[in-house]
Amino acid sequence: MSEPTNGRTPDRKPAGGLTIDFGGGLSGGLAGPLAGPPMVAGEAAAGAALPQAGGPAAGGHDHGAVEAKVVIVGSGPAGLTAAIYAARANLAPVVLAGTTPGGQLMITSEVENYPGFPDGVEGPELMALFRQQAERFGATIVDADVERVDFSGRPFGLWADGVEYRAQAVIIATGASAIWLGLPSETRLRGRGVSACATCDGFFFRDMEIAVVGGGDSAIEEALFLTKFASKVHLVHRRDQFRASKIMQQRAFEHPRMEIHLNATVEEVLGEERVEGLRLRDTTDGHLWTLPVQGLFVAIGHRPNTAVFRDPLEVDAKGYLVVHDETLSRVEGVFVAGDVHDHRYRQAITAAGDGCKAAIDAERWLEAEGIAEVSTATAW
Ligand code: NAP
Repeated sequence: MSEPTNGRTPDRKPAGGLTIDFGGGLSGGLAGPLAGPPMVAGEAAAGAALPQAGGPAAGGHDHGAVEAKVVIVGSGPAGLTAAIYAARANLAPVVLAGTTPGGQLMITSEVENYPGFPDGVEGPELMALFRQQAERFGATIVDADVERVDFSGRPFGLWADGVEYRAQAVIIATGASAIWLGLPSETRLRGRGVSACATCDGFFFRDMEIAVVGGGDSAIEEALFLTKFASKVHLVHRRDQFRASKIMQQRAFEHPRMEIHLNATVEEVLGEERVEGLRLRDTTDGHLWTLPVQGLFVAIGHRPNTAVFRDPLEVDAKGYLVVHDETLSRVEGVFVAGDVHDHRYRQAITAAGDGCKAAIDAERWLEAEGIAEVSTATAW
């Protein structure tokens, strides 16, 4: 690829503006192994004949409502791990998995850092295994989105796909979705050089030239991480000033293999089968130029999937759920796990660990309330 000395290739082709695609992450339009029919084979309506959980105030229906000791909302690593643990504690959990279940791993290609898979595993395959494991122990999984909740009294109410669920305990594990630029070319090349997770995919870009877009701490953190693999990292930001902390900016500016492009917006991701470059617009004079790179990491923030929980529960300034004492929300009996509250680690393994913690906390709480049987020391 020939480039002028300043690394810019003039380009007069028109291009569209930037928008934020709120359809990423959990609602990424999947058609993978998890997108199958709802849980109970042969049932006409979701929840029409969910398995009955034994014990008081659990299982069965009342005027069309489905009752459960535990309802888990979300089906990424946090939700399904919570389901495995809750099912093994005889809580017969119902998982409201969403209409596009599986979480962010469903839009990830190979996962190489999940322990237990020395040769790596495809993200959708990993989530299919999580799901199988949860179902094996009796979790009921409904591929429906929660539209409304009522946490004002117990049993808690949740509505999904026209069905009311009544739960003695709820675990919220709805995750967060990466915000994308919203370009058609970006969507087309996702998993083929376009990624929103440096920790997951950086390894695949060894000795390549790549770009990171964004101007916050995440963008700089991802860019610095990627310098471990890439021969050069271009940091592309739309303004003349970074939003990131001064110390992170200093690290970026001082890094010998980092090149910074301010006042630049991504107009198009170039390439047919794989990323071959970016068409950028200089916002100071509007001219277009091409940056030849083999990868694009979008790091313009995440959006926690908390819309239906914002009223009853506490959220921080960015909309993430606030937890107390590891997994507790401000409503007793409602627990929280994974990226829906954790914007720091955001890893499948940390989300899974969180799901385990939430299930254990929920089970102990149900025991204390006299709703679940007291477990033996080896129940987990
Ligand atoms: P953020 O602070 O909201 O920054 C998002 C960046 O993306 C901004 O620079 C923004 O540009 C840019 N952006 C947004 N939409 C864009 C679009 N459509 N096109 C191009 N650029 C766009 O998000 P974050 O970096 O993920 O950080 C989230 C929070 O986590 C922050 O509080 C951050 O401090 C924290 N965090 C901390 C660390 C750390 O301390 N190590 C690491 C990661 C995150 P503008 O600036 O022009 O708005």
